[in-house]
Amino acid sequence: MQVPVYLDYCSTTPVDETVVQTMLPFFTKQFGNAASSTHAYGWQAAEAVTVAREQLAALIHAEKEELLFTSGATESCNLALRGVAEAYASKGNHIITCATEHKAVLDTCAALSKKGIEITVLPVDKNGLPDLELLQQSIRPTTLLIAMMYANNETGVINPIEQTGAIAKQNGVLFFCDATQAVGKISVNVQTANIDLLAFSAHKLYGPKGCGALYVRRKNPRVVLKEQISGGGHERGLRSGTLNVPGIVGFGKAGAIAAEVMTTEAARMQQLRDRFETAICAATGAIVNGGGPQRLPQVSNLCFPVPNGASLLTALNRVMAVSAGSACTSAQPAPSHVLKAMGLTDAQIKSSVRFSFGRMTTEEELQFAIEQTIRIVQEQMA
Ligand SMILES: *Cc1c(COP(=O)(O)O)cnc(C)c1O
Repeated sequence: MQVPVYLDYCSTTPVDETVVQTMLPFFTKQFGNAASSTHAYGWQAAEAVTVAREQLAALIHAEKEELLFTSGATESCNLALRGVAEAYASKGNHIITCATEHKAVLDTCAALSKKGIEITVLPVDKNGLPDLELLQQSIRPTTLLIAMMYANNETGVINPIEQTGAIAKQNGVLFFCDATQAVGKISVNVQTANIDLLAFSAHKLYGPKGCGALYVRRKNPRVVLKEQISGGGHERGLRSGTLNVPGIVGFGKAGAIAAEVMTTEAARMQQLRDRFETAICAATGAIVNGGGPQRLPQVSNLCFPVPNGASLLTALNRVMAVSAGSACTSAQPAPSHVLKAMGLTDAQIKSSVRFSFGRMTTEEELQFAIEQTIRIVQEQMA
């Protein structure tokens, strides 16, 4: 067992060994540019990209022509939001989103609001869920898009995605879903959920960093985007730039593995997570943030009754890699916007820690994490 034990799989995951092996030839022997359409090196690369596109489209029940490769979910969120706002400018200027979204969505919406796009940010209840009646009431004739994440990266809370998709469809509004934490972990289906645009990322599902995808619906309705990166017309003109072939190949393989192991892995995660929560809550009086509604099986966000949250995190981090909220915002000192939106006080937010489990988490690691967490929290309370 390696200490500190890694329990931060929501921040990133190690690359699966099989994925690494699948990627390696594409750095050296098969190094062709997928856009080189006149020779064998290019054909080989393009074919490998097609395989990956098929593997990932299958994972979300889409067609391969509906997937674009990007540098990650942050870029995919930017392309979806900015691309829709610009392409549909003559139709409207209003976007609805939610207070618990990732900063890739919230910061992009804030940037768009400076360019004349009106943004409605829906509040959430203490469970982290938005009010669908309020969502319905917030729709205006000028509303272009609803942006709602599949599952929250800090609490694991799963949003009412199918209902949101139905509301969007009834009102002729597009639905963009940041599904970065959900894809490969739980079943995601863009057809049954009426999702028009969907973002996800390789490094959250045991693939490499710096590689993401955006699903863009092709029919019922056909979604149009204004490209945000031009030059060369790659990815049907929507995202120019030489494709990251090794990354894409690894992303595809990671997606194929996820499809295979998802059901058994989700059951194992839930079992580990429940044991973890039961033991720790009983021994320390911790409360599960977002523990009420449906949530991802691999995440546990706990609020501890300790006097000093910062010193708790420091002590935990000596033996295990866990974080307070998301890695993406921890560069900023501000307390978690997600827990704040759920009504927690600043003191409660500072005493909250996210534990996230993954495919490489062992029984031994789980037992160690339970014992160490209880010991550390009891020390902090003494
Ligand atoms: C990690 C994450 C992102 C950002 O993904 P990158 O590929 O690292 O840019 C966006 N949204 C959610 C929900 C995430 O968990």
